[in-house]
Amino acid sequence: MSGATASGIRFDQVTVAYDGDVVLDRLDLAVEPGEFMALLGPSGSGKTTALRAVAGFVRPSSGRVYLGDRDVTAMPPHRRGIGMVVQQYALFPHMRVRENVAFGLKARKVAKAEITDRVAEALELVGMAAYADRHPRELSGGQQQRVAIARALAIRPGVLLLDEPLSALDAQLRSGMLAELARLHRELPDVSILYVTHDQVEALTLADRIAVMDRARLQDCDTPQELYRRPRTEFTASFVGNANLLPVTVGTHPGSADFAGQPLTVTPGEAVAGAAATLCVRPHLVGLGPGANALTGTLAEIQWRGSTHRLYVDAAGHRVMADVRELREAPAPGDTVTLHFAPGDAVLLPAVTAGGGPAEVPPVLAATSAGGPHA
Ligand code: ADP
Repeated sequence: MSGATASGIRFDQVTVAYDGDVVLDRLDLAVEPGEFMALLGPSGSGKTTALRAVAGFVRPSSGRVYLGDRDVTAMPPHRRGIGMVVQQYALFPHMRVRENVAFGLKARKVAKAEITDRVAEALELVGMAAYADRHPRELSGGQQQRVAIARALAIRPGVLLLDEPLSALDAQLRSGMLAELARLHRELPDVSILYVTHDQVEALTLADRIAVMDRARLQDCDTPQELYRRPRTEFTASFVGNANLLPVTVGTHPGSADFAGQPLTVTPGEAVAGAAATLCVRPHLVGLGPGANALTGTLAEIQWRGSTHRLYVDAAGHRVMADVRELREAPAPGDTVTLHFAPGDAVLLPAVTAGGGPAEVPPVLAATSAGGPHA
């Protein structure tokens, strides 16, 4: 859309506290113009607080928020020119769809003829042009959410904030809306989108980059592919996809590690010899049978999952998951089985300290160095 206001969002050391409780801790994050950024994390990790700090509904206790080049930290919400959609559709029930979508434009005193054009344009964008004269009660949940998005877009914002916009919809509607949101992002190449969710599928499907939040802090931020292939923390590894996390000691040779007395070969990185680390390997990258990095153990459980079998194997006191395709002869619980994985599929992560959080100075870095964002 033309005439968009400043695009791009930047958090500069943004901290938010309620009654002395820090719920967002020195957040540093930039959403580029036209970028779709997902804020992903468990409930209570500070995602909505971060979004509301951009909207202006929450005042940071310290740090600055920028929209484009403008410092908006002290600016009231209605002057920020932001479009926002929340979980509950929050449409005005007594107004027709077209009046709902026109609301922000009327408040901005846009000329009548232009309001008509912009409402039509926004409804067209979300595929709701045929419903302009309906009331919200005459629409499904998914349709109401589309109207809420049209209302947010009608003001031609440079920044669109979406707070769990699909969580009130049933599974089928949600998957349809995922495709709709992906299309919308393609059709609005100048609009920065910040999308709050606790659902990894939504984040992996939609986002150019994902910012992973936990306990008020940004844990990781990268493309979905990088976060999945080369997570930098145990939290990211287990929150974005499934992961086997095995305690190892880093060996003296580059790429060597020791797991319960057994030597393993992993992607060489910047790990410090002798340090405790966690080896991360995805279940679908673990194969059945002998090979590199062979681990022998007892099959505890086997589940058929349609296209794969999920094997749970106890090896050296740790349970290892393997998702195996085309299993000709399925082993039975109690059988001795051997699993293997390629050195290139294993990533070393900093070991988590006894307190549950990562060590202040990580003894090892992720096996591959942190790459910048790329599509
Ligand atoms: P998320 O969106 O990740 O679920 P929130 O940002 O909503 O997390 O909340 C982070 C923490 O801040 C939670 O512990 C929540 O209870 C607390 N919190 C949020 N809003 C307020 C408020 N207005 N007053 C006090 N505490 C709040």
